[in-house]
Amino acid sequence: LDVVRGVEPRIADAIGAEIEDQRSSLKLIASENYASPAVLAAMGNWFSDKYAEGTIGRRFYAGCRNVDTVEAIAAEHARELFGAQHAYVQPHSGIDANLVAFWAVLAQRVELPALAEAGVRQVNDLTEEDWERLRKALGEQRMLGMSLDAGGHLTHGFRPNISGKMFHQRSYGTDPETGLLDYEAVRATAREFRPLILIAGYSAYPRRVNFRIMREIADEVGATLMVDMAHFAGLVAGKVLTGDFDPVPHAQIVTTTTHKSLRGPRGGMVLCDDSLADQVDRGCPMVLGGPLPHVMAAKAVALAEARQPEFRDYAQRVVDNARALAEGLTTRGARLVTGGTDNHLVLLDVSGYGLTGRQAESALLDAGIVTNRNAVPRDPNGAWYTSGIRLGTPALTTRGLTTDGMDEVAELIDSVLSRTTPGTAKSGKPSKATYVLADGVAKEVAGRAADL
Ligand code: PLP
Repeated sequence: LDVVRGVEPRIADAIGAEIEDQRSSLKLIASENYASPAVLAAMGNWFSDKYAEGTIGRRFYAGCRNVDTVEAIAAEHARELFGAQHAYVQPHSGIDANLVAFWAVLAQRVELPALAEAGVRQVNDLTEEDWERLRKALGEQRMLGMSLDAGGHLTHGFRPNISGKMFHQRSYGTDPETGLLDYEAVRATAREFRPLILIAGYSAYPRRVNFRIMREIADEVGATLMVDMAHFAGLVAGKVLTGDFDPVPHAQIVTTTTHKSLRGPRGGMVLCDDSLADQVDRGCPMVLGGPLPHVMAAKAVALAEARQPEFRDYAQRVVDNARALAEGLTTRGARLVTGGTDNHLVLLDVSGYGLTGRQAESALLDAGIVTNRNAVPRDPNGAWYTSGIRLGTPALTTRGLTTDGMDEVAELIDSVLSRTTPGTAKSGKPSKATYVLADGVAKEVAGRAADL
């Protein structure tokens, strides 16, 4: 840090403050973790300076032999860890991984047949009319994914994201009674909508998804099954999600982030079967800029870590801890979406405390508990204020918390929320953002949180 301080002390201070914040607060954001020192060290070096557009052995730049080594090792670990035919480790983020996957499927299902029909090998060789027809066909494709309020992700065809501008989208939700995914409803929508891509995966669904059934549905309607396992990749790597709940044997293409439950550097990855490998490898320059070799080095280290027996133990503890947190909250009277969890996250409906998600998130932060507000199914407060709080255990499990510790975390959360009341806006009207936390609670809970 002193090296940074010598150049820009404010950045050194911010890094120091961030380390202190992450040490002293309880990190319950379901998509965050603590990468190991080996991962961090692999990321902070001169690989960052290297340009390496293209793929292993086929670069647009000279001098890439060390990048080739790094990328090949990362891909090998990814293939072997997940049992995938092909792995592409260049995506800079989960969004990028999804974009690469979408374009790979579009190329396989729409572009290549169009090139074959026109009797040419490259898009550049199409006549103006052929190209116009292809562009129109690319713009007419459909995607079916989980609705946002059921826990789906913006990149699954929703309008604010580019995926929503690329595809006509329809979504499937969850059963209003149980909050669980209703596979027969997904099947009925798929039969009617006939998507090119059926996408499964989520950011805020606290249960497992049966990917065998999802593939069955995709096959029935001629869709490609894509699974975005960004959130639960660590549970797949750690063999907690196996059989029907492991997406890799069932989906033609799987994307992930590397920084959430997988505990690697910030980045993305695509796994696919051989039929999509060539198209996926065109990610750079198709939609990605130059790869980040330093991040690929860190991905290789994280994937090597995830292949160790200790990682299986870690993944199991993540799930055990989430269950303990869910039980700790329900025994204290809290309402959870679906009534519990069988993965790494818990979705707490805070309307029972008379609060919005925004108020609950802020009050918890004051007390040293870092969470994020999240819509619950059919949320009356919408996506900004919300009625929920999403809680995840990957980070606290890395810090060594056990199920007993999680019960204490549940107690701290309940003690903050039950002593928080909605505030009023400056105008005196009720507000969905302001809140009043009873005197002394923030200090008392933050002290206990720091000791955990
Ligand atoms: N997919 C899912 C399911 C996610 O939850 C997220 C991140 O929250 C992403 C994709 C996007 O990942 P990134 O932030 O790395 O682009």
